[in-house]
Amino acid sequence: MKYANVILPLPLEDSYTYRIPPEMEKAVAPGCRAIVHFGKKRYYTAIVLSIHERPPEAGFETKELYALLDAAPVLRRPQLRFWEWIASYYLCKLGDVYKAALPSGLKLESETTVTCNPSFETALPLRPNEQTVLDAFAGKPKLTLSEVERKSGIRNVVPVISSLMARGAVEISEEMKQGFVPKKQAFVRLPELYHREEKLREAFSELKRAPKQEAMLICYLDISHALNPQLSKELSRKELLERSGYAPAVLEGLIKRGLLESYEKEVGRLQVPVCRLEQPASLTEAQRIAYNGILHAFKSKEVCLLHGVTSSGKTEIYTHLIDDVLKKGRQVLYLLPEIAITTQITGRLAKVFGDKLLVYHSKFSDNERVEVWNKLLYEKEARLILGVRSSLFLPFKDLGLIIVDEEHENSYKQQDPAPRYHARNAAIVLAGMHGAKTLLGSATPSIDSYYNATSGKYGLVRLTTRYADCLMPEITVVDIKELKRKKIMKDTLFSPLLVQKINEALENGEQAILFQNRRGFAPATECRDCGWAPRCINCDVSLTYHKHDNRLSCHYCGYSVQRIYTCPQCRGRDLKMSGFGTEKIEEEVGRLFPSARVERLDFDSARTRTGYERIIADFEKGKTHILIGTQMLSKGLDFGNVGVVGILNADSLMNFPDFRAHERAYQLMVQVSGRAGRREKQGTVVLQTSQPEHPLILMTQQFAYEEMVKLQLSERSLFRYPPYYRLITLVLRSRNEASLQEMSSLYADKLRTRLGERVLGPVSPPITRVQTFHVKHIVLKIEVTAAIAPVRELLDHIHTDMRQYPPFKQLLVHYDVDPV
Ligand code: ADP
Ligand code: ZN
Ligand code: ZN
Repeated sequence: MKYANVILPLPLEDSYTYRIPPEMEKAVAPGCRAIVHFGKKRYYTAIVLSIHERPPEAGFETKELYALLDAAPVLRRPQLRFWEWIASYYLCKLGDVYKAALPSGLKLESETTVTCNPSFETALPLRPNEQTVLDAFAGKPKLTLSEVERKSGIRNVVPVISSLMARGAVEISEEMKQGFVPKKQAFVRLPELYHREEKLREAFSELKRAPKQEAMLICYLDISHALNPQLSKELSRKELLERSGYAPAVLEGLIKRGLLESYEKEVGRLQVPVCRLEQPASLTEAQRIAYNGILHAFKSKEVCLLHGVTSSGKTEIYTHLIDDVLKKGRQVLYLLPEIAITTQITGRLAKVFGDKLLVYHSKFSDNERVEVWNKLLYEKEARLILGVRSSLFLPFKDLGLIIVDEEHENSYKQQDPAPRYHARNAAIVLAGMHGAKTLLGSATPSIDSYYNATSGKYGLVRLTTRYADCLMPEITVVDIKELKRKKIMKDTLFSPLLVQKINEALENGEQAILFQNRRGFAPATECRDCGWAPRCINCDVSLTYHKHDNRLSCHYCGYSVQRIYTCPQCRGRDLKMSGFGTEKIEEEVGRLFPSARVERLDFDSARTRTGYERIIADFEKGKTHILIGTQMLSKGLDFGNVGVVGILNADSLMNFPDFRAHERAYQLMVQVSGRAGRREKQGTVVLQTSQPEHPLILMTQQFAYEEMVKLQLSERSLFRYPPYYRLITLVLRSRNEASLQEMSSLYADKLRTRLGERVLGPVSPPITRVQTFHVKHIVLKIEVTAAIAPVRELLDHIHTDMRQYPPFKQLLVHYDVDPV
């Protein structure tokens, strides 16, 4: 008897054992999907993890695999190994990884659809149950399993469906095929016959009296390079019509004569139309040295950090490295921290790599994601995949290189739900499994990576000059406290210098970027008479006023109420708003620069992929003059005409209660500054702060990255923070505050008996209540040299121990390994 251990999309166990029915034995392989029955009434798509002959412990009843969905695995062995690593390092279950890894188009959960085969005929009589099930369809081609159960009145319909499947009367995997609808597009090509020169010449003479057709054919040959096998590319009908400028009738004429033939082909929804591929740009001297430096580092190291200032041409260097690896027939993964910046980079990469480039991210539809998945699974061609963190889970066969661009970005860390993995760190592990190299790139590397690079673990390559001798922007610090004291800045967010610089830029036909890391209008409201302030009912935070919908809303749970004009406590009408977000800047910009066209880029305005893309595209084209935004602006966007960048208030960035606050603040300010003066001309940055003497401000002004790192490292080694120690946060949540209090103290004590001083807390996080849950943290500081496996064992042990206490049931507990 054979058994399969399978992964279910449930956070309970790592794997579950099922019996393999004899008829399935040959076909089942690790990485295949199978439908299994679990719990009272539910069916899930499981992934076969392994096959063995060890019967489960006595007393455990094992069920059979119900149906196999794949003839060949949809997951390769390296993927499963990678899943296992994620689950074990980030202290979660394989089921959590499964849920995050597979696009939902490949996952069938309890609502599995059964399709009835209309042309089913049989010589053998059906058993009564089988007939009842088929009757349940009553003309409907598809039903879910639960619908079949309800309509047929049969309790456990699975075995019946199973025998019907064996007879070919119903299908279960049909849904998979139907769910994924390939997109077709019409193409045109020159028939083989005319690839011979004399034939083609004859054809042209035939066209003498049809000049439009002649012109279109020439155009076709020109764009498609049909006669040159090395350069030739497929040309869609649409592209030919667009590029030739002639009407469809002209094309029909050519097709009628047989000079072109039309055919249909499945195309990616992801394709970026590219007419002619370009060679990678030739590198400058400095870039060439960096490129060689990276290749050299890869000889002895698995990972290399490219520390290149903004606009130094890191992307160009990546392009050359990608080209090298693709030419060797190996795959490349190019990771970006956020969907936000994929558009610009997609355009740049598509010009060089054409349809070798595949884009993968969560805002794509499920069909698009399954399409990428299948391409990697079934096509041989080496591809470049551009994607955000979830693309780590794609079924790679042979990765040669992973690039982690903007490696310092926090958004590489998955916050919720599990697996709470760090995509940069996981990428290094994944690369290792494929024998691939990892290149980390940033103008402001994370202190963690920089530490690894300077301590010899990673290679380090520096690129200190901007492309085309462009100068680093000049940062002027403005003391807003002083200006306020002198009443020069009253009721305004703009210092006179910033106003002047924006005016100059606009007069010169340049653009401006204004940065404030807060969205909405005002983050706090307060009654001047009694001090009452509107707060979220679910979270321990004040509500932010949003002007666009005239509501007060919570940024942690989405709760919102109509704007309040009268204090509910004292009936006073003097409600004062304080602080400011992007909306308020937008309002003042409207007053100060009435003729400028202004756009806002933040979570509210860029909710959709197209919303975001349009805002960026309009700014790139110069349609917008002033762009106001949150940290979304800082992420590696490349604009050519920004004269001035304004940082409206650096204080809130620096005063954030977190050990990484200063590192983050430095990175954000240098990154947004980097959007200024990219070509030809030095840009200006106006940095407004009420702490102009703060060392961090001075370091930012001088781009003194190393100095910033040195200062931070000395503090971190003193207070036992990363990179010297590894942090694991135990997050405990409950609606019952008393239980939380009691249980978290007990938990921490138990941990302390085994881990001693490494245990901190329980502590209250900056926001003590989120989405109706009270929150406590217990922080573990583990030596980086310590192996993680014993720690995991210990944590599991104590967690099990905690379960003996009844109030513990009211707690939700999860781990956050390497929190950011
Ligand atoms: P980074 O990624 O370091 O911020 P980019 O690669 O975006 O820098 O380069 C900044 C700008 O300079 C881009 O518009 C890019 O096209 C241009 N550039 C950089 N290097 C070259 C090169 N070798 N040839 C042509 N253009 C370049
Ligand atoms: Zn009041
Ligand atoms: Zn809330």
